[in-house]
Amino acid sequence: MGDINEIFETSRKTLQEIEQRLEMPRREFLQFCATLAVTMGLPTGAEAAVAKAIESAKRPSVIWLHFQECTGCSESLLRAEHPTLEKLILDVISLDYHETLMAAAGHQAEAARKSAMQANKGKYVLVVEGAIPTKSNGIYCKIGGQTAIDMVKEVAADAAAVIAIGSCASWGGMPSTISPLSDSSPTGSAGVAEVLGKPVVTIPGCPPNPYNFLATVVHFLTFGKLPEVDKLGRPKFAYSRLIHENCERRAHFDAGRFAMEFGDAGHRQGYCLYKLGCKGPETYANCSTLGFGDAGENNWPVGCGHPCIGCTEKGVGFQKPIHQVARMLNVTPPLQYPRIVEEQGKAASFASAAAVAAVAGAAAGAAIMLTRNLGLSHAAAEAERARDAGDAGKPTAAEDKAQV
Ligand code: SF4
Repeated sequence: MGDINEIFETSRKTLQEIEQRLEMPRREFLQFCATLAVTMGLPTGAEAAVAKAIESAKRPSVIWLHFQECTGCSESLLRAEHPTLEKLILDVISLDYHETLMAAAGHQAEAARKSAMQANKGKYVLVVEGAIPTKSNGIYCKIGGQTAIDMVKEVAADAAAVIAIGSCASWGGMPSTISPLSDSSPTGSAGVAEVLGKPVVTIPGCPPNPYNFLATVVHFLTFGKLPEVDKLGRPKFAYSRLIHENCERRAHFDAGRFAMEFGDAGHRQGYCLYKLGCKGPETYANCSTLGFGDAGENNWPVGCGHPCIGCTEKGVGFQKPIHQVARMLNVTPPLQYPRIVEEQGKAASFASAAAVAAVAGAAAGAAIMLTRNLGLSHAAAEAERARDAGDAGKPTAAEDKAQV
């Protein structure tokens, strides 16, 4: 081990260089590394390895292909502020081909792609945004006279890693939606893994969270390999927990407090959106813990009052009707709830009942509580409607039922 002063001095110099290169204070740079390490679920202290990789590793060449998509994934990445995409392009990866962002066009652009592939053969990272149309030999998407099918196969052949960004590239997403009158989508849209016939890393989402993409690339830089993935190719650090498990409205769900209509009293008070069709209970993603766009807390669909549509989950997003209630994959309440402002009165008894179920920790008990609570808000809503109709003062049958 080298002299500690020497190590400190080297690190200080490197951080100074980083500070100048990224035009970012070193404290902010270290915070960025810590955020990525936490996103990847790495243990305390791993931010040093992440910082070292970003400081010293040779920037990997990235070829970014666009097919059937809206460019929302790139737009989402452009909203990542720490660092901005511009800094990311210049300092973390070498983005050698990206049709939306590159200055070159036409033959020059295609020549840039070919030369990047040749110069970095076997070492570059291929990122695919958008679904790939497979019907009629892929004629529905052509770039420079080449179909999307041929292009993705050609570029993937010599790539060190392939990442499908967004739901469209992951499994077909929105373009793969099938009408009830048909047995396939109009263009036969498919995901990258299906077209290549081999597994790839997928970062689904519409759009995906930019930090999940950045963390995947930085994992590759730090450890020389892509992160561990689930059976759908999604990095486990980002997609191993249900949105419902860490949702800020979860305490309302467990207490049986639901918004029944957009704009009703429950909706205005931030109650659970399950009955409006929230797919959080059957969708794996870290939206509820990470948020979007660096715009502060609660900046994600449920935080803004809209039910989760399950965009990261094949078979849920773009397939299930928005207001269809979700399938419950896990009925056990968490051991600890996010903090909420407790209401006084009858709601407190619902909360304490849910807390008893949580302490007991028995799935069967929790399922009974869940069934009971799901019925409670209907009864409460009925009672409220009856009161509004002028029966205030007299307890109604529905109110009696709600208080049981
Ligand atoms: Fe949050 Fe949706 Fe679960 Fe309600 S159903 S707690 S809004 S994820």
